[in-house]
Amino acid sequence: MCGIVGCVSKENCYEKILSALSGLEYRGYDSAGIAMVSPSKTLNVRKKKGYVSNLKGKPLAGDTGIGHTRWATHGKPSDANAHPHVSGKFALVHNGIVENFRTLKDELLRQGEVFLSETDSEVIVKLIARAYDGDFFGAVAKACERLKGSYALAVLCADFPGEIVGVRQGSPLVAGAAADALYLCSDVPALCGAAEFICPASDGEFIRIGGGKICFCDGQGREICKQFTRVPPESRLTSAASGTFMEKEISEIPRALSDTLAGLTETDFAPCARILRGAKQVYAAACGTALHAAEMFADVAESEVRCPVFCFAASEFRYRDPLIGKDDLFVAVSQSGETADTLQAARLAKERGAYVLAVTNIAQSSLASLAHFTIVMRAGPEIAVAATKSYNCQLLCLYYLAAQMKFYRTQEFPDWFASLPSLSSAAEETFGCFLQMSALAAKLKDARGMFCLGRGLDVRTAEEGALKVKEIAYVFAEGYAAGELKHGTLALIEEGFPVFTISTSPALASKTDNALAEAKARGAFTVLLSQDTAALSESCADCKCALPALHEKLMPVLAVIPLQYFACRMCLLRGYDPDKPRNLAKSVTVE
Ligand code: GLU
Repeated sequence: MCGIVGCVSKENCYEKILSALSGLEYRGYDSAGIAMVSPSKTLNVRKKKGYVSNLKGKPLAGDTGIGHTRWATHGKPSDANAHPHVSGKFALVHNGIVENFRTLKDELLRQGEVFLSETDSEVIVKLIARAYDGDFFGAVAKACERLKGSYALAVLCADFPGEIVGVRQGSPLVAGAAADALYLCSDVPALCGAAEFICPASDGEFIRIGGGKICFCDGQGREICKQFTRVPPESRLTSAASGTFMEKEISEIPRALSDTLAGLTETDFAPCARILRGAKQVYAAACGTALHAAEMFADVAESEVRCPVFCFAASEFRYRDPLIGKDDLFVAVSQSGETADTLQAARLAKERGAYVLAVTNIAQSSLASLAHFTIVMRAGPEIAVAATKSYNCQLLCLYYLAAQMKFYRTQEFPDWFASLPSLSSAAEETFGCFLQMSALAAKLKDARGMFCLGRGLDVRTAEEGALKVKEIAYVFAEGYAAGELKHGTLALIEEGFPVFTISTSPALASKTDNALAEAKARGAFTVLLSQDTAALSESCADCKCALPALHEKLMPVLAVIPLQYFACRMCLLRGYDPDKPRNLAKSVTVE
């Protein structure tokens, strides 16, 4: 999702800002802009709907500037709504949502202010300009006191070339330092290659760049002592040398799994032993793809550990006033560790006394700093908006966690635990299904919709496969419990309607095949994915895809891979870019 950058340099920094914005592109956005303040104290702005590359051209003058990639929340994507927004001597970029902007805007309109955009963000720069009495930092701090909602801001003032004020409240912000420039940025990967040292801000913290240094402080300007660390080399963004990032990331799944498993075996779970052993109830919450991983965890952990495990969409968790409390474990899953809905759910769980355990790909993320304990997966940077390798790695981490919970309670690991090291090579074997998946994508690319069915753990794979198809190929797809088909949705089946069935549990195979047969009898084009040779040979499916065989409980890590690839192929054949699906963002930092 959207991102902000600020840079103060020893020379013109337009290109530096442009390059950091390109580094933020993977998060998803719809418009981009840059504002610079020149040494002669003039503000210049260039902003455009569409790609960051639209900002290329003669650099704007100045050694201080801010930049933005917008993911519209208030007001359509347009040049006028693109950030930076300007008022008087100030230019501002904002990431997040000002929840009370309507009230503030009405108040400012009554005071005679004229708005040039439909965004919520423009009220902030107006408030800052009105609060200004010569004190740059003071004006920003005062304006922030009026804001409700989430924001990361970077602000320029024409009176202060060489200075930027940033602040974080609910949306990510890190400071970065290099010999030739100082930075603010929404995430670390975008600063790789530019900054050598980084330091994330916490909520409520301001970052002031000026006089050749970076200073963290509170709203009163009191300095906060922070530690900078060297930029981790693994956060460097690599390019998709050929093809798309999504294809590249699918091809990286075997490696990501073996790296993640190596990380897990080095992880010392002793600090959370008490809660793993004694948690009365376990909650898991996440959004989107990570929610499917969390659901899987709930299924696996409950059956292994024999204690109740509840799973929720993080965006809904709060609204139930959940019965979570002391002695409960709350597992929050987020690739970026910045998913606003997941963070809010984790905060609530923590406030109510639960122990928060995070599973994330980013060790320096907001979720990791909020959690009592963090499992960091080692999926490597994931650039494509639609998650692939991070999902497989989340599953692995959550299986591992379920196994630890069982071990702390019974001194025994689940029987599938010893098969975890085989996941990586088995994942590679699933690539053998890709030719078949390509052919299926070509055959089905004009389908109006499709079903993915499964039973037991396979429901999660079905849901995730369907989500991929929706996200990037823009074909309506529904992941469904196979047994539910006959209770209503069978009505949608007509001649040629694609039905993918995932069947990895030999005990459930014949029942799952009934659903497939019912769909086929009504004209569906049926596809079966299974590692179970008996299930494959007995099925009446039109197309059968043999998965590599591993312990059936671990099959979800593998079975999803052909579906990820199918969705990617379908997207490409339909003429879309899988790396930048419309309307979607990578790390969803608004609620
Ligand atoms: N809410 C602001 C807008 O719609 C900022 C969105 C963003 O974070 O990019 O302009």
